[in-house]
Amino acid sequence: MRNRNFDENLHILYLIPTPIGNLEEMNPRAINILKSVLAIGCEDTRVSKQLLANFGISNKLISCHEHNEEMASEELLKYLETGNIAYVSDAGYPGISDPGHRLVVKALENGFKVSVISGPNAMLNALVGSGLDTSHFYFHGFLASKQSARLKELEDLKHKKETMVFYESPHRITDTLLDLKDVLGNRKACIARELTKRFEEFIREDLNTLASLDANTLKGEMVIVVDGEKEDKQINLDVVLSYAKELIKNGVNTKLAAKLASEKYNVSKNVIYNAIIKGE
Ligand code: SAM
Repeated sequence: MRNRNFDENLHILYLIPTPIGNLEEMNPRAINILKSVLAIGCEDTRVSKQLLANFGISNKLISCHEHNEEMASEELLKYLETGNIAYVSDAGYPGISDPGHRLVVKALENGFKVSVISGPNAMLNALVGSGLDTSHFYFHGFLASKQSARLKELEDLKHKKETMVFYESPHRITDTLLDLKDVLGNRKACIARELTKRFEEFIREDLNTLASLDANTLKGEMVIVVDGEKEDKQINLDVVLSYAKELIKNGVNTKLAAKLASEKYNVSKNVIYNAIIKGE
């Protein structure tokens, strides 16, 4: 079968990551390609116009964001029929918690080439700098903004062994940390703040500590990295249960025993309560 990537006649959609803070991270290859293409699709023309002006790029910008991606992709495909185009989101990689995916699918369906330039991405910087296991990881992006949906998502993730990475906005960070702690139990975690910027900070603690931080100290852009479930959790649960059962033997009711054991060992009250009931 013909390898389409070597077909010189096919026009190319270039996906180009842009800096997540530090402008020096815009790579020379990205700049050259952005200068050379017929048109540049972007998430927000105001943001991209300003960014690209820093690098002397004044190509035509076409708005293609979450809410018009379907239609705007069609317009971009018309340019792609004539020559190469590029797509940039506001920061980092297009398609990673940002628009771009639908455009990629359409370009591929229409037989065009898709090429990705390497560059800045908040998830990878956070993961690599977190000090947590990088051999296997899971990227979730943003959790649901509604608490009930967020709790359900976390319940589904609680037995994941891989390190987990979440994006979050500053106004929801404390609520999310509290939910992470309540559902996943206490574990090692890291908040990676203001990556690549002047006040970059990695807060490497556990979920209990992170959830109790003063919200005023958690400003700017943030990624949360959380340890996967560790094998010794099971052993911990046995220890927790024998503590709760000892309390029950001494006359404490089941509900209170689960609550006290939960506070002592940072394991979910419901998990302990259900395990006691099951074991009875
Ligand atoms: N496409 C981007 C990427 O490749 O990383 C992600 C865009 S997403 C809309 C924005 C989220 O990424 C923020 O809410 C934050 O969680 C994370 N983020 C972006 N820039 C960051 C930075 N400089 N420091 C920490 N987190 C950042």
